[in-house]
Amino acid sequence: MNKPRLLSANLRQLRPQPLAAFFPPTCWATGESIAPSDHGLCTEIQRQIRQQLLWPYCHGCGSTLGPFAARGSCRNCAHRKLGLDRIIRVGTLNGPLSRLIHSMKFARHWALAGILAPWMAEALHHAALGPVDQLVPVPLHWFRQWRRGFNQAFELGWELSGILDKPCDDLLRRKHATKAQTAMQSATARRDNVRGVFVLPRQVNVAGLHLWLVDDVCTTGATLHAAATAFRKLPTALQPASISAVVLAVADSTLIPDA
Ligand SMILES: [Zn+2]
Repeated sequence: MNKPRLLSANLRQLRPQPLAAFFPPTCWATGESIAPSDHGLCTEIQRQIRQQLLWPYCHGCGSTLGPFAARGSCRNCAHRKLGLDRIIRVGTLNGPLSRLIHSMKFARHWALAGILAPWMAEALHHAALGPVDQLVPVPLHWFRQWRRGFNQAFELGWELSGILDKPCDDLLRRKHATKAQTAMQSATARRDNVRGVFVLPRQVNVAGLHLWLVDDVCTTGATLHAAATAFRKLPTALQPASISAVVLAVADSTLIPDA
């Protein structure tokens, strides 16, 4: 997959190692000095993210479950047919992930993808839900990507691809620009906003593969379900074996109590 790079970000990654002695690494979330082996996050932020990662949640919609819930589905998802086989998350937008994702997207700190993607790999490992054959980042419309300079899902997918040693390809395209999902007032409006917007721009061979959509945030799941629908429209013989999603955070109103 060809991956556009920002020159400034490349230069930052290429910073000569001796300079680290004068500019010791700091935590991306708190600004505290950290050791290079901390991989960009201080011990406390790592603890908070790990606590979220280990908390039980519904694999149908990503919502937080009670501390003693059996792993699986919430009451809403237990009896409904889902467009996605499962959603795997690192955590929720209630904690430090919110700040980190906001910084990655809106302060153009795309290098944070390299800090956050290992957590997605850990979430997949923790869930232990079977094979990963192909990663598929959820695309932005070209104009929004051009304005932002990058697609955060693309960056996360690329980093995750390196960790898992699995291919990551931009198989999907947005037919037209949509309003920001955050501007939609209801789940119905969010579904309508993205219905039919994702297409496969070229012939793809995903028959029998376990596909994993990659995105930063899942709010109602409307975007992920719309992306999955593009693959569900393929003829039966060309259908993937499963379509799942891995995200950094689910926008969940249920607070995970601090340990
Ligand atoms: Zn659910």
